Amino acid sequence: LQCKSHCHGPHRPHMHSSRSVHGDQGLPGPYPTAEDPSTCDIVKATQYGMVERCKELVEAGYDVRQPDKENVTLLHWAAINNRQELVKYYISKGAIVDQLGGDLNSTPLHWAIRQGHLPMVMLLLKCGADPSLIDGEGFSSVHLAVLFQHMPIIAYLIAKGQNIDTTDLNGQTPLMLTAQKATGPEPMRFLLKFNPSLNAVDNVQKNTALHWAIASGNTSAVDLLLEAGTSLDIKNVKGETPLDIAYQSQNHFMVYMIQEEERMRNRRNNGLLKIVEKYELFLMLTSSLIFMWAIGYVMDLSSDSWLLKGGLLLSLLFGMSLFVRQLVGLKNLRYLPTAFLLSSFFWMSTTWFFWFLPDILYTQEIMMGLLYYFYKTWSTDPGYIKTSEEERKENIIALSEAGCLDFRTFCTSCLVRKPLRSVHCLACQACVARYDQHSLWTGQCIGIGNHYYYLLFLFFLTMTGVWLLYGTLQYWSNHCAASFHQDGVWMYFTQTVSCSPWVSYISSVACFHTLWASGWLTVQLYQIAFLGLTSHERMNLLVQRKSSKHPVSLRRTPYNLGCFQNLADFFQCSCFGMFKPNIIDWTKQYKLFHLAKEKNVHSV
Ligand SMILES: [Zn+2]
Ligand SMILES: [Zn+2]
Repeated sequence: LQCKSHCHGPHRPHMHSSRSVHGDQGLPGPYPTAEDPSTCDIVKATQYGMVERCKELVEAGYDVRQPDKENVTLLHWAAINNRQELVKYYISKGAIVDQLGGDLNSTPLHWAIRQGHLPMVMLLLKCGADPSLIDGEGFSSVHLAVLFQHMPIIAYLIAKGQNIDTTDLNGQTPLMLTAQKATGPEPMRFLLKFNPSLNAVDNVQKNTALHWAIASGNTSAVDLLLEAGTSLDIKNVKGETPLDIAYQSQNHFMVYMIQEEERMRNRRNNGLLKIVEKYELFLMLTSSLIFMWAIGYVMDLSSDSWLLKGGLLLSLLFGMSLFVRQLVGLKNLRYLPTAFLLSSFFWMSTTWFFWFLPDILYTQEIMMGLLYYFYKTWSTDPGYIKTSEEERKENIIALSEAGCLDFRTFCTSCLVRKPLRSVHCLACQACVARYDQHSLWTGQCIGIGNHYYYLLFLFFLTMTGVWLLYGTLQYWSNHCAASFHQDGVWMYFTQTVSCSPWVSYISSVACFHTLWASGWLTVQLYQIAFLGLTSHERMNLLVQRKSSKHPVSLRRTPYNLGCFQNLADFFQCSCFGMFKPNIIDWTKQYKLFHLAKEKNVHSV
């Protein structure tokens, strides 16, 4: 992707002391759009970036330090309009970088930040501008970047060593400003990545960021601050806790949010529940095993009353949902399908041992293969992009200075540059290299690291299911008296089900797993061999195709190198020297390169 530097037309700074979050971009300036370069004065020439005219006037004796009627210098005008060449020229002619000017007593750096000109901010810092200076409203550079929600500038200033907990004149930190003024969850989520002090209070009202967020009704900020672990007990100058403020503002939803959080935190201090939480995954697996068995047991009861069985099954389901809601935390809820899958493995093997074994041979290899590849998929790193805090700061500086701090290629959650084909997974809270999907059944991300194991897992799951269904058919023909030819389809069906409800139950579970695993395996193999795409990329292209007027081809992508080469690349297999697999480290690949001479390719 290309890096573009944005250049706006001439701007005048804020003339009013408003604490508005919105910038003044887009407002029509008081100046006409065209000026005569040969006659206009130096202020207008600076605003419009007429470098030659400015140089001419300065050479003729104009003092670059001379402020105009509004106490604004030429450097201010050059900075707010992103005239980089003029800024360099004026500084070389003796302009003072940190000159205060304008109604708000701001430096040129403050003006550049209000407008969101990252290249200008970098240039001024390079020329020695001091980002810790405060303007007439008491805001330092970081505060202004936060107020106007210019996230690349926030990232750059912090990477350059500005403290995330810098206070303004009233003792407000950037976090408090965001809680109070920002719209949407993104600015707050972004700021929290830099580990700000959550429980700092301002000088005047002694409010924490949470107090401010509640007072201004910023629901998403409250949610994020609670999740980050902000204290609920700090009292402000009037002795009010965050909950008191929520009551006062009569915001029932926020009262509920805070009370829920309080309840959760108290529970965490309870000794018994602590143990439950520690072994939560194990507990989930055990209970899922018991529930699966209990369902089969109820169906296997010798009673003929379907009413009794139905009632028991319903109460089982009710008990299960109650258990899940009371004991399983939100974090581990995503492992519920995994627990079901593992219990299915267990009861499928048990059924084989105790119902089928004398008649039909047990094939350990398939079950062992299934367990092995499940374990490998689950435990192998899918390709999380890892960086240290220092590396992240270096990244931000390097990318900004190269003009590439583009939020399409930069993950604002991980603060890393995203490699090609990587995606940020919300469940894992990380960027994953050559991301395919977050698998429901393994509870893990599928990426470059474990995609291969995942396919083999699907293959062995299909095989296990098919083998078990074969065993079921054999069992029925050996143990059930019904005959397909004599009794008709319906009679045959009811006879076999009642012949052994347990076997029917397990075989229907096996059937379910076989269906989704084989279907998904087919789709995966098709994508890998014929499209050279991941599931995520294919979904994106399908969505693009629906909304785009131009035809979007799934086959003409830079990653599709033909069926055999795609397979050789995926499995990294040369097939006895017939192919030459491309070796690409997808955790470090940032630029598109031409694997093949493809033209008219779409970006994915
Ligand atoms: Zn990420
Ligand atoms: Zn994930």
